[in-house]
Formats: sequence, C-alpha cells, structure tokens
Amino acid sequence: MKAHDVIIVGGGASGLTAAIAAKRAAPALRVALFESGARVGRKLLVTGNGRCNLTNERVEISRYHGGDLAAAGRVLDRFDGAATAAFFASLGVPLRADGTDGKLYPASLQAGSVVDVLRFECDRLGVETLLECHVTALTASGVAFEGGQAAARAVVIACGGRAAPHTGSCGSGYALLEQAGHTLTPLHPAIVPLRTETEPIRPVTKLRIEGVVTAFAGDEMRREAGEIHFAEYGLSGPPVMQLSGFVAARGGADLLLDLLPDRTGEWVLSYLRERRAAAYGDLAENLFLGLTHKRVGLMLLKRAGLSPRQAASSLSDGDLAALATLAKAFPLRATGTAGWADAQVTAGGVPLGEFTGDLMSKKRPGLFACGEVLDVTGDCGGFNLQWAWSSGYVAGSSAAAFAEGER
Ligand SMILES: Cc1cc2nc3c(=O)[nH]c(=O)nc-3n(C[C@H](O)[C@H](O)[C@H](O)COP(=O)(O)OP(=O)(O)OC[C@H]3O[C@@H](n4cnc5c(N)ncnc54)[C@H](O)[C@@H]3O)c2cc1C
Repeated sequence: MKAHDVIIVGGGASGLTAAIAAKRAAPALRVALFESGARVGRKLLVTGNGRCNLTNERVEISRYHGGDLAAAGRVLDRFDGAATAAFFASLGVPLRADGTDGKLYPASLQAGSVVDVLRFECDRLGVETLLECHVTALTASGVAFEGGQAAARAVVIACGGRAAPHTGSCGSGYALLEQAGHTLTPLHPAIVPLRTETEPIRPVTKLRIEGVVTAFAGDEMRREAGEIHFAEYGLSGPPVMQLSGFVAARGGADLLLDLLPDRTGEWVLSYLRERRAAAYGDLAENLFLGLTHKRVGLMLLKRAGLSPRQAASSLSDGDLAALATLAKAFPLRATGTAGWADAQVTAGGVPLGEFTGDLMSKKRPGLFACGEVLDVTGDCGGFNLQWAWSSGYVAGSSAAAFAEGER
C-alpha cells in the first residue's frame, strides 16, 4: 500500500487549491490528488460560460447561504478576495472585471487557462496526481479506491456536490463524510432554471426580457433583477437562477414578474390611455407596440382575458388598469426547479459546525473537507468559486500542518 502524507480526494477547484496550499506550506510532504475523472478541473472548464467567473469584487457573507454562515465568513476571511487575486497573480493570471456587478474573470477570459495554471502549479510543486482513481471509502489508515488502498496522515474530501454530475461531482463526498460520522442537511439543486406553469408564458417562449422577479413563499420574499429567459418548461436567466435556491428549499413559490422595470405602474397606465385615445392601428395587439416586445403585449392581453384582435378603443379603463398591473406584476407559479443536470451548485451539504475553523472534522482528526460538499452555497457571480478557493486553501494548508505534526 502506497503511503502519502496528505491525500486530496477530488481534483476540482477546491481540491486543486488544497493540493497547492498543502505543498506550498510544507514542500517536503508527499501530497497526492486522487481524481475519478480522466482529467482534473472538468467543472471549472464550464464555469462562467467557459470564461470562469472566479470571484467577485464584493465578497460578502450576505451573498452566501447555509447553516453556519459565521464559520463560513471566517474561512472566507482567511483567504479573501485579495488573497485570491494574489494567488492567481502568482500563477500568472491577472484578474479583470466584466460588467457592473463585480464579477471577476481571468484576464484571458478562458476557463481552460485557469485549469491549466492550477494543473501546472501542482506539477511544479510535485503533487502526485492520480487520474481515473475513484475513492470508494475511508479506511483506518487512509482511503480505498477502485483497485487498491493508500495510506495518509491527513485526508481532504474535495469531491464537490451533486450539481452537473457529467463534470464528475456525483455526490460521493457525502457518503465518504457520512462514513466518518458526519450528517447531511437536505440537498437541493441551486443556481438552476425554474419549472413554472407554462400556459401563461407560452406567447413569449424563447424571448429574453430585462425584468425583476419577486418570489414569495409564506411570509418570506426574495427579489432579483436582470434578463429573464422564457423557456418551454419555465424560466431561466440570471435573476431566476439566483432565486432558485430560495424556491427549491421551499418546494415552490409564487412569482411576480415586473416586465417594465424602468416604468411605474402609473406611467404604464397613462401610456395605455394615450395609445387607446390615439387609436394607433386600433387593435389591442398594438397597444404595447414600441414599448416592449410585441409578444409580451400578446401575453398580457391573453392573461387579462382580452382579444388581441379587438379594437383598442373598445377597452375599458378597468381593462387598461388590469394590463398595467400585469405588466408590472405578472403572476406565475414556480412549481420547482430543473434537476441536478442543469444545476450549477448544490444547496445544503455537510454542516460546517461539524468542522473546526481549520476545516478539520470534529468526528475524525486528520480528516478535512472543502468546497461544495460543505453546507455553504454562494449566489451567482463568482461566490461559489471563491468558497472553493478559500475553503480549499484553508483545508489544504491545515492538512499539511496536521500531517507535519504527525511525522
Ligand atoms: C455550468 C456551471 C457554471 C458555473 N459557473 C460558475 C461561475 O462562473 N462562478 C462560480 O463561482 N461558480 C460557478 N459554478 C459553480 C462552481 O463550479 C462550483 O461551485 C465549484 O466548482 C465547486 O468546486 P469543488 O471543488 O467543491 O467541486 P468540483 O469542482 O465539482 O470538483 C469535484 C471533483 O471531485 C471529483 N470526485 C468526486 N468524487 C470523487 C471520488 N470519490 N474520488 C475521486 N474524485 C472524486 C470529481 O470528478 C470532480 O473533479 C458553476 C457550475 C456549473 C455546473
């Protein structure tokens, strides 16, 4: 049986960072990275539409969700946005901002370059990377994998969650940690499209509209703005993905879509009155012409029970008020989310309270965890990868310190 000082299980964002952190902290240690896939960083390659939104200018704990956010905040503080930028600069990757929402990307705008530099740094430092090596169990001395066993003084579980399983994260990290006595909070797909009633939005299928989505469940409410994508099964797009964890955790939600977010309801109503008076085209279907996409107008008319072919001049004040209200607050029931295959992250996981501030298991000394397997979920915008870098760095350097102490 081969012996290592530190074994990292999972060669994704957090595992690669943990391996680098362990080797940088203690170069003499034998650090091995076990990855079940044929290559490391498969999920990283698809992040940020292939551009890798690797952190955000405004990393704040308010952008995270999970059972122990104070502990998550302490981990993020130990390897914060500035440390992340310095880390990537040390690998030859300056960061660049894109857009106004604080998202930061590699200057190359290529996720592949992020995977490459992490891989090269592992090689340069002498991390032993074992590919197509799926860890099946923890053993008394280390880990068992398909075809053998390996010993280690410290083991870091960096297996990711259940989202996007085609990238390798099959949920096996949960089973490994449960084997050590850890518990698991309920898991939900997050940053994922929403399934909704489909009939009301049929006229706008495949349209993308700037808007505001508000989700209500009981007396809780969450609101997000941005481009709403209308699909055959429901809704997608940044604001919808952002709300999806809220909806999933509550088993559904009532949505209100503001489809004219730059206008007040009063403005829309007076606009509709003017259009009716002008009798432009004199058909109801022309009422919204020029203000929003024609198919949005058709959707509003349909929902209000009005015919697009009736004369605009035949619409009552009450009809116009109903249309204005629908344009500002279009009701739609979200019945749930799309599945794991379409999800970007896993909400829920192994509670952070079961780990020390160094991310060492309180159940089994020498066992560490980092990344998405833990019960910490970030919003869309680079916050999940920031969690992967931060927790990976803390777990990797702490595992190295533990292994050194055991030598
Ligand atoms: C389409 C998509 C786009 C995204 N875009 C962004 C973005 O732009 N910004 C952002 O912040 N976040 C984004 N995310 C989320 C982000 O990629 C994840 O939160 C992050 O990669 C999690 O890192 P991780 O190391 O915990 O897990 P992963 O990156 O999933 O890595 C886990 C690794 O462990 C391996 N593994 C699993 N089980 C075993 C085992 N038993 N033995 C050996 N190896 C194992 C897997 O093969 C995998 O390589 C996106 C996710 C998706 C799916």
